[in-house]
This record gives sequence, C-alpha cells and structure tokens, in this order.
Amino acid sequence: MTHNFDPQEIAKFGKLAAHWWDPHGELKTLHQVNPVRLGYITDKVNLSGLSVLDIGCGGGILAESMALEGGRVTGIDMNKSVIDIARLHQLESGTNVEYLHTSAESIAADRPESYDVVTCLEMLEHVPNPASIIHACANLVKPGGHVFFSTLNRNPKSYLFAILGAEYLLKILPRNTHDYAKFIRPSELVTWTRTASLLPQEMKGISYNPINQTFRLTDDISVNYLFHAIRAQSS
Ligand code: SAH
Repeated sequence: MTHNFDPQEIAKFGKLAAHWWDPHGELKTLHQVNPVRLGYITDKVNLSGLSVLDIGCGGGILAESMALEGGRVTGIDMNKSVIDIARLHQLESGTNVEYLHTSAESIAADRPESYDVVTCLEMLEHVPNPASIIHACANLVKPGGHVFFSTLNRNPKSYLFAILGAEYLLKILPRNTHDYAKFIRPSELVTWTRTASLLPQEMKGISYNPINQTFRLTDDISVNYLFHAIRAQSS
C-alpha cells in the first residue's frame, strides 16, 4: 500500500510536539479554538458513553476534551513524538484516551464500523490524498454515526487570513504551518464525503477575533470551517 501521509508534514508537527500543551506556545490557537469546536460537536451528539475516534489527534487537545465529556476516545496520529506527548500528558491530566501511532487507512481495515463518532480536525489540509482519509472515516463510523471535519478553505481571503495574517502579521501560527495549495474548498469536501457514502449535514465557519484572541462559530465558511456528516442507517 502506498502511504497517504507527507513525511515533511509529519516532521513539522514532530518539532512542535514538546510545546503541544503550552497554552501560550506555538500551538496556542489549537487551545483557543478547542472550546468552540468541542461545543459544536457536543451540540450535535452527547458523547457520554460513546466510542469516539480522533484522527490526526496530535498531542490530544480535542481527544482529551472529548474524553472529559464522557466519550471512550481513541486518538491516532502518524507522528510518533506527538503520540508520546499525548500519552505523557494523560499522566498529568488523568484522562483515559487510547493513543495509537497508526494511519486512518490501517485502523479502518482493523476496526470497521466501530465508532459512534469520528473526528478529523485541522488535518485534511496536511495530507496528500484527503479523499482516502474521508473514505476511511466512512468505513470506521457505525451506521447512523457522526463524522466531523474541520479544515481551511482555498480562496484569496483564506490565503490572506490563514497564511499572511496568521503566520506573518499576527504570528499566531509558526511560519510554513500551512501550504495554500492543499487547502480544501467546501465543494471538494462535500464531493469526497458523498463519494464515501456519507451524508453531509451542516457547515459552520470558525472566525478569529485578533483583538481579544477568541474564536467563535459563524455562517462565514470562507476561511476555517467545520463540517458535520452522518453515515446512513443500514437498511
Ligand atoms: N487534530 C488536532 C491536531 C491538528 S495538527 C487538533 O486539531 O488539535 C495536524 C496533525 O495531523 C498533526 O499531529 C500531524 O502529525 C497529523 N497528521 C498529518 N498527516 C497525517 C496523516 N496522514 N495521518 C495521521 N495524522 C496525520
């Protein structure tokens, strides 16, 4: 099987691993945005007692927060050092997430239809073949289950905001975090989702206010956006 990950992208996150849980460090925007995206997910589905898979979990910011909501969470990532950081952090936080160093495609082969909820946030724009990840998500979720994605739109405004604004002007993200060419238009995400037999439900924008450094949900999906889909009940 050819691997659906980009070694340079993976290495980029490995370098940030040690700072993953520093709320004021290089990944502070993931900390700042987490309550908003967690709130979006828990508005759609009560995680208590549900099996949840977080794909591209990084150091576990979202994964841990979903475990605190009562989810039985597995987090996977292709970078071994971020998985090590995620495991270490649990010793401090006392949460109980199963962390695995594996790919979406291989866990889909091992554990089909195993999860009530699958999340894959801020990761699709870092992989060579996002459609293959979406296909894996569709295989991993149980019939009737929920899938959540978030990513960056591809247009002049998202270039201005997510690259020039975030990496160069405001410096809220490390330089070269993102590659504009890999950004994903909502129409592309919807097409891949439908091709994988998932049913698109809703898109919401995530907007950043640089004055008070907070994120909120909006109807403007032109930069960063969340996408909710479900798998049809089997007949
Ligand atoms: N989802 C987390 C982390 C986002 S950073 C959050 O939103 O808080 C992107 C993560 O995706 C990094 O940890 C990186 O190692 C991981 N990643 C990139 N390509 C991947 C792939 N093909 N498979 C699994 N993880 C991948």
